[in-house]
Amino acid sequence: MLTALALLACAETERPAPPRPPDVVVVSVETFRADRALLGQPGSPMPKLSAFAEGAQRFEAAWSPAPWTLPSMVSLLTGLNAAEHGVTRGELSLNPKVETLAESLQGAGYETMFFGVNSLFTASRGLDQGFSTYRAWPSLNGNDLQREMERAVDARDPSRPLLLWLHYFEPHCPYEAAQPFRGRETPTWGEDEAPTLDQAQFDQLGRCFQLSDPGEQPVLQVGRYLREYDAELRGIDLLLGDLFVSLERRGLQDAVVVVVGDHGESFWEHGDFGHGRTLFEEVLHVPLLVRWPGQGDAGVVTSPVSTSVVPQLLRAAAGLGERPTYDGPVLAGTDDEGRSLRAGRLGDQKLILDTQTGAVLAFDLGADPHERAPLATPDPTLLQAVRAEAATQPTAAPLALPLAPPVEAQLRALGYKP
Ligand SMILES: [Zn+2]
Repeated sequence: MLTALALLACAETERPAPPRPPDVVVVSVETFRADRALLGQPGSPMPKLSAFAEGAQRFEAAWSPAPWTLPSMVSLLTGLNAAEHGVTRGELSLNPKVETLAESLQGAGYETMFFGVNSLFTASRGLDQGFSTYRAWPSLNGNDLQREMERAVDARDPSRPLLLWLHYFEPHCPYEAAQPFRGRETPTWGEDEAPTLDQAQFDQLGRCFQLSDPGEQPVLQVGRYLREYDAELRGIDLLLGDLFVSLERRGLQDAVVVVVGDHGESFWEHGDFGHGRTLFEEVLHVPLLVRWPGQGDAGVVTSPVSTSVVPQLLRAAAGLGERPTYDGPVLAGTDDEGRSLRAGRLGDQKLILDTQTGAVLAFDLGADPHERAPLATPDPTLLQAVRAEAATQPTAAPLALPLAPPVEAQLRALGYKP
């Protein structure tokens, strides 16, 4: 018996230590529209991120689960759809019973750090759950954000794996890209086709969006807004290029790296500017890239995928579960000023349901990628899935924040309210 125990003990000591789970870096970018980023395509305003994409897994039909920051970020942090976590209005906060990605990884021994720019992150809305370092600024440029991150990462305990999350604000309105990036056209759709606003439409734009010429004349050509937005993408591309170099210098060259947009941006394609109020492709279709260490070109996923899949992907990378599959409908939603919209996508089929009126807009994105010709009959399977989503209640109801007036002011400053 003693011999057997001794042998067992010996076997125990000789067993190799479990492999250290990989470092994980998530880079979420504000207001990041896939069809303007054009990653890997000729004429992309983002050569550095395009080069990164060549060595990454590319999700070509990634959807944000909501068209604005708060619900979309809660989904990215929890893996739940907006309907499941319920944090769909500015005064709501994530229920602490929901386990976030940061909590899962912290439980697995990770050091967890978040550095993000958006006034919505500064009040506690549960976004900080599971981060041992959580720092948020209402405004900070991307260079300074990187310096703050570097100071903290350089002081970390390198024996522990790291979850590092950065959220850049840059492409968000106001469109104020640095001068070298401005005035250059991205040769894609839009510039010439884009409409011209009238003065009343200009006046309805949130202050955040309004552009004026040097003589204080309002800019009415929507093409000019697109050009300024593309200039913002050129600027964030340089920031991301610097960030990738900085991560390598900090020993994070073998990290799993996710780059994702939190939602897109409308430029009057369907009668609206900004984001938050509609569910058309310009606000839902975002870049999603995952660089897996040692894999090089990890291929293309063409199936529609919600960015809420990110926590499951990263838990799997850390050895905490299975990788997701990409079948079944992808869902999104928004609640705005008493209006409630839900959308779904299955293959090329898409539909948007107004839950109050029951009105449905259906599209075939293969034949009609800009959603200009609604179909007479929606796909019945998809309609059923979207109706089920509309009836979904959060499993752990969100909490109300006692901060109504400042929240209202924050939302206005971000352009969500006129
Ligand atoms: Zn956002």
